Parts: sequence; structure tokens; C-alpha cells
Amino acid sequence: MAEEKRKELKELGEFGLIDHLTKGFKKVNMSTVKAIGDDAAVIDRGDVFEVVSTDLLLEGVHFDLRYVPFKHLGYKAIAVNVSDIAAMNAIPKQVTVSIGVSNRFPVQALEELYIGIEAACENYKIDLIGGDTSSSASGLVISVTAIGEVEKERVAYRSGAKEGDIICVTGDLGAAYMGLQVLEREKQEFLANPNMEPKLADYEYVVQRQLKPEARVDVVYDLKEAGVVPTSMIDISDGLSSEIMHVCKSSKVGAQILSDSVPLDDLTKQTAMEFNINPSVCAYNGGEDYELLFTVSKEDFKKIEKNPDISTLGQIVSEKEGAFVQTKLGERVPLTAQGWNHASK
Ligand code: ADP
Ligand code: MG
Repeated sequence: MAEEKRKELKELGEFGLIDHLTKGFKKVNMSTVKAIGDDAAVIDRGDVFEVVSTDLLLEGVHFDLRYVPFKHLGYKAIAVNVSDIAAMNAIPKQVTVSIGVSNRFPVQALEELYIGIEAACENYKIDLIGGDTSSSASGLVISVTAIGEVEKERVAYRSGAKEGDIICVTGDLGAAYMGLQVLEREKQEFLANPNMEPKLADYEYVVQRQLKPEARVDVVYDLKEAGVVPTSMIDISDGLSSEIMHVCKSSKVGAQILSDSVPLDDLTKQTAMEFNINPSVCAYNGGEDYELLFTVSKEDFKKIEKNPDISTLGQIVSEKEGAFVQTKLGERVPLTAQGWNHASK
């Protein structure tokens, strides 16, 4: 028998790999409403839907302990999972936390990690209900599973956006990416001169957005109070561009984004200029903002229009038009999963 040629992971990419490995699985339980492919899985619990999401954080891949304090890391590990629960329009209730630890760390470091975890649990009103602990040969590993709840008629998938819907986003974007650039720059200077004090005071907001992001559960409550159910929703973990593409693909629609519509904080703009980066490119390509991107019908939009935490980016168009940024001159620049780069035009 001919030997099968070795297939490289990069041929598939992350989403291709997940699809390749899981496509053969058949659903056997009626209670499984939504399995793979959204921010969280959805399970029918009778009166309500339960939503479940899990994330893996690896030292050297997702965080660098040379500039990430343990306390912040603990907080962020919970916040990013809570963000996936919020992205289903659900309220987080419980988390499990599993850690792989190496003997490089003293107990005090892990205490700090758990101070951060506890602060996040308190802030998001969730209970730590279990986990697992093991030794690790390759640095710190953290895996969090978050569980939430949503009334059945209020669940929001990536797949419900309709032509004519308004595309909305919470907060401001791109700051976490600029925060990372600042921290990386300081790390290089610190490695060159270990006696140096990091100069972070001028960059507080962007650094904070990188180290201690917040999940927008507050907006889930706002939407409920306004009597609005988004037609689709996703959280912004990988960058605005790739999240818009996910919604378009799942909903089988296109998106018209107006240039200059992306909400940017002044310090983000200023820091981006300093690094010679186009500020909106940080938002489109950067990631780790953990804001919510969602679509609502035109009628529902009127009910949230005045919310200062919500901005509009444009509207949903037909699938054949695709996803694009429309410039003031009417030019259409296609979005790509790698992001939209104005400089390349
Ligand atoms: P997010 O960025 O919102 O955390 P991901 O991009 O990590 O979501 O995952 C996309 C989907 O694929 C999710 O439904 C997730 O549960 C699922 N998934 C990811 N990795 C695996 C895996 N190894 N096995 C099964 N499902 C997976
Ligand atoms: Mg997500």
C-alpha cells in the first residue's frame, strides 16, 4: 500500500483543522442545540438555554510572563471566556479553571493568579465550580470553561444577520493591539537594560486594554432592557475584519462598512501614529479587544441608538456583494480575514 503523504497543519489553518477533525461527528442528543461553530455551544435545559465555551491559554503562545503580571493573567483568562458567553447574548454563571504548572513558579505566583481569577468572578458575578491541576513540562497552561444562561428567545448566533440590518459594535477598538506594541517595545528595552523602569504611564489605557480586558456583559443587560435581540453576535477576539467575515459566512450575507466608522480612542490613535501604524488597521487586524460585534434590525436599532457604548459600522448587504469597506469616494475595498489594509490600496 502506498504511504500517505504527510499533511502539514498549515495547509488547513486553524478553522480548517477544526472542521477536518470534527466534521464526521453526529449529534446524538436532542438537547444539543448548537455544537461547534459559534462563540459557545448551546444546550437545551428545558426552560432556558445553557451556553458553554472553553479556551486554552499557553505561556509563550498567548501570554508572556515577562510583562504580564499573574494577577492580570488570572483576570484575563476569565474575562475572555465570559466574552464568548456574552457573545451568545447570555449571562455567565459558572467557570471551571484548569492549570498546568511548572516548578519554576513559587506558590505566591499562583496565589496572585487566583487573586485575579477571584476578582473576575466577583466582577462578573460567577462561581468557580471546579477544574484540574497538573504539573507541566512546558510552562504555564491555563484552560477555562465558562457556562452561561440565556432565555431561549434571546439567544444570538453568528448566523442570523439579514440584509438591511445595522452592524453595531461596542466600545472602542484597536487599543489592545497598541497596548501589546507598547509592552513589546518596553520588553526589548528592558532586555537590553534590566535596570530600566518601564515607561508605561503615558500609555495607561492601551496597556490596560491589553492586560485587563473586560467582557461586555453590561451590554447584554442593556440590550435586554431595551427589548432588543441582536440578529447575530460575535465577540472581537481576532480583529474586527475576521469577525465580520465570520458573521457574513455564517449568515450567508455581505457587509458594507463605512470608512472612518470604527470607534477609536484618542490614545489608540496617538500611539498608532507614534508606531507608524494606521489606527483603523489596528482595529481591523489587531484583535483582543473583546468588544461585541452585532447586527440588529432597523426597527430595533432605534431602541439602542442613544446608548453611548454602541456605535454603528454600516449595514448588512447581499452575499454576492461580499464584505467591504466603502470609502467616502464610493470605492469598495474588500475585507479579507487578514484584515483590511488601507495602506495597501
Ligand atoms: P472563539 O475564538 O470564539 O474562542 P474558536 O475559534 O476557538 O472560538 O473555535 C471555533 C469553534 O470550534 C468553537 O465552536 C469551538 O468550540 C470549536 N473548537 C475549537 N477547537 C476544537 C477542538 N479541538 N475540537 C472540537 N471543537 C473545537
Ligand atoms: Mg468568540
